Amino acid sequence: MRFETASIHLGELESEGAVITPVFLTSTFEIDKGRYVYSRVSNPTVEVAEKKIAFLEKGESAVMFSSGMGAISTTILSLVKKGDTIVTHRDLYGGTVRFLELLSEYGIHVSFCEVDHLKERCDNADLVFMESITNPLVRVPDLEGVVKNSSGLVVVDNTLASPYNFNPLEHGADIVIHSATKYLGGHSDIISGVAVGEERIISRVRERRKLFGTNPDPFSAFLLNRSVKTLSVRMEVHNRNGRIIAEFLNEHDKVKKVHYPSLDTHPDRKRAERLMKGYGGLLSFELEGGYESAKRFINSLRIIKNAVSLGGVESLATIPSEIISRGLDTGVPKGLIRISAGIENSDDLIEDIENALKGIK
Ligand code: PLP
Repeated sequence: MRFETASIHLGELESEGAVITPVFLTSTFEIDKGRYVYSRVSNPTVEVAEKKIAFLEKGESAVMFSSGMGAISTTILSLVKKGDTIVTHRDLYGGTVRFLELLSEYGIHVSFCEVDHLKERCDNADLVFMESITNPLVRVPDLEGVVKNSSGLVVVDNTLASPYNFNPLEHGADIVIHSATKYLGGHSDIISGVAVGEERIISRVRERRKLFGTNPDPFSAFLLNRSVKTLSVRMEVHNRNGRIIAEFLNEHDKVKKVHYPSLDTHPDRKRAERLMKGYGGLLSFELEGGYESAKRFINSLRIIKNAVSLGGVESLATIPSEIISRGLDTGVPKGLIRISAGIENSDDLIEDIENALKGIK
């Protein structure tokens, strides 16, 4: 089965002829009546979403979580022990940075480096954690170089690319993680996460999920399964709108710098082009007028909402230094604006951005 077909049909349970797998809103199951016992451990609706996402990420097994952070924390704590070293890059989602910084309190050493140095710095790591497209500076780190140089496990947060654009397991990663709150969920109505890989590793993660209680609720799994069915069509529009907005901003005289892999000026353009089908809807940029202009710009937008998160059908804009990366040493410029391009008509989005730019010096 191919991506688009599998995302609709794969793994659906046949129950009373229902076309869509129902939501099994039950915490417990009668013993000896089937293979389920308790929904913190496993649940039929959750398993359908897991099967589908495992296939889309070209992995053997998947395990779903209550959030992307649940996926990241549970996966990492399943795979490292006291005394181990994790190597990662600085330009990383702020929540992940804060979680990794916490690990030193438990005797786990975490080393942060520049994206361009990850390949050289990872040879002694027990675990490398990286994003396939970084948030918020939209870099594309050298996954293949890391896989070649690292003797430890390579865990890739593939949230910004989505499995439609990129499959890190095909390039040697051991585990792929998603904040399924973003493109997989796609409608800004669930908080969810998932980890995918070989069953021998995922089974360890699943055991920890059971103990940490980072399992998803069945209703979120139902909504996630519904959302994944339209992933391919949504991603085509996110890819197109992301590119259109990045190119428009890149030509504008009030814009200093745009971060998006399709642009000639992007440092990882060739790698992104070789590895990925598209680059999604997330882009970031800096205005000539810095932070003050960024504030004015954000407040002048009418269609694009000022909110954190990304990957939903509606476009969002935020200043990462104010919330997500606040107080962190991640190299994010204070005036950086991050836009998550939704799937609206691109002419409306460009008009909104053009009007907001008119209001700044
Ligand atoms: N990874 C990335 C790249 C993210 O952008 C986010 C959230 O913004 C997360 C992980 C965390 O996901 P969640 O908010 O679902 O816990």
